[in-house]
Amino acid sequence: MHKLTLVLLACILCTSVRAAEPNTNIIFLIGDGMGVAYTGAYRLYQDDLTTPELDATIFDEMLVGMASTYPDDHNQVTDSAAAATALATGVKTYNGAIGVNAQRSPVVSVLDKAKELGYLTGIAVTCQVNHATPAAFVAHADSRQSYEKIADQYMDLKIHGKPKVDVIFGGGQEYFVRKDRNLAKEFEALGYSYNADIKDLSKIKKLPALGLFSKGGLTPALESEHPLRLVEMTEKSLELLSAKSAQKKPFLLMLEASQIDWCGHANDIACAMGEMRDMAETMKLIKRFIDKNPNTIFVATADHSTGGLSVGAKGQYQWNAAVVRNIKATAPTIARQLLASKSNWKSVWQSLTQIKLADDEQKTLDAFITQADENNSELVVGQLTAQVLNYIDKYTSTGWTTKGHTGEYVQVFSYGKGKNNFEGAIDNTDIAKKLFNYLK
Ligand SMILES: [Zn+2]
Repeated sequence: MHKLTLVLLACILCTSVRAAEPNTNIIFLIGDGMGVAYTGAYRLYQDDLTTPELDATIFDEMLVGMASTYPDDHNQVTDSAAAATALATGVKTYNGAIGVNAQRSPVVSVLDKAKELGYLTGIAVTCQVNHATPAAFVAHADSRQSYEKIADQYMDLKIHGKPKVDVIFGGGQEYFVRKDRNLAKEFEALGYSYNADIKDLSKIKKLPALGLFSKGGLTPALESEHPLRLVEMTEKSLELLSAKSAQKKPFLLMLEASQIDWCGHANDIACAMGEMRDMAETMKLIKRFIDKNPNTIFVATADHSTGGLSVGAKGQYQWNAAVVRNIKATAPTIARQLLASKSNWKSVWQSLTQIKLADDEQKTLDAFITQADENNSELVVGQLTAQVLNYIDKYTSTGWTTKGHTGEYVQVFSYGKGKNNFEGAIDNTDIAKKLFNYLK
């Protein structure tokens, strides 16, 4: 054969091979509120105390860099809506904005672009699915508070004549099944399965699927019968999106460990570590998936940090992970159960926290619980919750500086195809910009 013909043939072959290469799957996980102190605390929390060395976590394994999080507001501290818009669209905006820029015009998300290109898409979160972070991938609203409008947009904003998201898992029944509109029924009419109990996840066998497993956000991990509910929802999403029947198409899956932030706002360290465990185990699951499906890029980050968590507080050079591990409920639940148990509160305290209180602390709790005004129950629960948190912080040596967010850099984690793209010091908008580059 002529040399030129050979070269031409080789070229044709190589381009046809390149063209046949499947597009990259994208998995994007956001730990809402998961500042650096959270992954640091979790490293201590999950460590095997019987061995001398500190065990590495999946966060350590996948760490590639840091991202700035400031919004377009000149206040340096972002909320989840502005941060989610940055992460979803690559555009900085004002606090409260969902998928709109500072001029309040809609901006395109990586999920929009993926759907336009024919990808399968999924969202699985532990808050209500119309909450700020997932909303910024799907909806456009001047205010994150427009919960019903955002829920409507899951149905109404169609691409190629269909809803944008093929798998929707999380909470939010009260926004999707309403008096004025039953979006769950509308999804069913379009061929979606609809499930309202997380126990039924295993029954879901095909796309498209809508699963709303609670009225609002899901039960906190620490108190849930499904403490690894993000793991469960992610596993099912990956199964559906990568099924043989769906395999001709690549997918984009957006995930959120939503309630790390809520525990941070509540300044509740045990609550936060429960959510961190769900996040970490989800990352381990994704790693196993990518090891079998290498044509996938995974990136994870936080939208901001919450609560000003510090590992150690008040001049104490210690943090007592073992005490945190023994706490079995969130502080409001502990408070409610103490009040319900009345004079028997000590055994409830012992079983839920295992913290040995000093005599004067026991006297304080005893007086409060036995004299509580039952006609003012929410106020009383709030006051006792604050006191419970005081003791938890004291005995674990945990510190907090705010009930809100803080503006420091957050970590970026990546694994899979081209993970080096996310290395170094970047901005939250860069993550979206880099993900757009994967979409072809
Ligand atoms: Zn928050």
